[in-house]
Amino acid sequence: MENTQIELKTYRAELHLHTVLSPCAAVEMIPPLIIQEAEEKGINLIAVSDHNAIENISAVMQAAHGTTVTVLPAMELQTREEIHSLCLFDTLEQITDFYDRLRPTFPEIRNNVDYFGEQFVVDATGDFVRREERLLITSSSLSLKDAWELTTDHGGLLIPAHINRSAFGLIPILGFIPKDIPLEVLEISHHINPEQARANYPQLTGYYLIQNGDAHQLSEIAGFNRFHIAEPSIAEFKLAFHRSAGRFHELIASQNAK
Ligand SMILES: [Zn+2]
Ligand SMILES: [Zn+2]
Repeated sequence: MENTQIELKTYRAELHLHTVLSPCAAVEMIPPLIIQEAEEKGINLIAVSDHNAIENISAVMQAAHGTTVTVLPAMELQTREEIHSLCLFDTLEQITDFYDRLRPTFPEIRNNVDYFGEQFVVDATGDFVRREERLLITSSSLSLKDAWELTTDHGGLLIPAHINRSAFGLIPILGFIPKDIPLEVLEISHHINPEQARANYPQLTGYYLIQNGDAHQLSEIAGFNRFHIAEPSIAEFKLAFHRSAGRFHELIASQNAK
């Protein structure tokens, strides 16, 4: 009988990192250095997730051409509850459409560079293109539920970020995980291991947990996730989280627990 089994590949993934577009990111977070750092660490899949913006994603994708690193488009979205979520997509077209719908839901507040930091749009070599004038670390008027629907409608996957962190984390802010949103995957901070997290927060039962570096500087690019999937895509991630069709995901982060 012909063997029709799909060949699975292993991806070590950092799904939460910021470029110089995020005001809190270091100036070293430019496309070529991000890709070089990932390659040196054996990380072959990254998601670029700036705060409430997408303008540097294509530059990082271009910088990854010809390397071992695949780049997925993402955003770290702040909803009106002041909760942060990773919104991951397969294609630039998807996230661009998503952003077009999202953009009017942010307040028009100018960045105060001295207070918040620079917000640079750069090219694939890291050269300056322009300053983003809109302050990016604000809340959308969308609720978490609305954001989940908008993300899903555009083919994306919404994962509440660093849910145990007091700043912008779902659990400290809401005190519970909303049951009216079909969340499946949650990101816990890397300062706690999944066993500790489940012991501390019984409400995590039934949710899949991931961890990321939430990298604001090169040294924080961590790659705690290992996926065994056919290709880097939202559909394959979901199969892996469900341990379906031979796909699976494992965390290689628990050594970071303090
Ligand atoms: Zn955050
Ligand atoms: Zn972040």
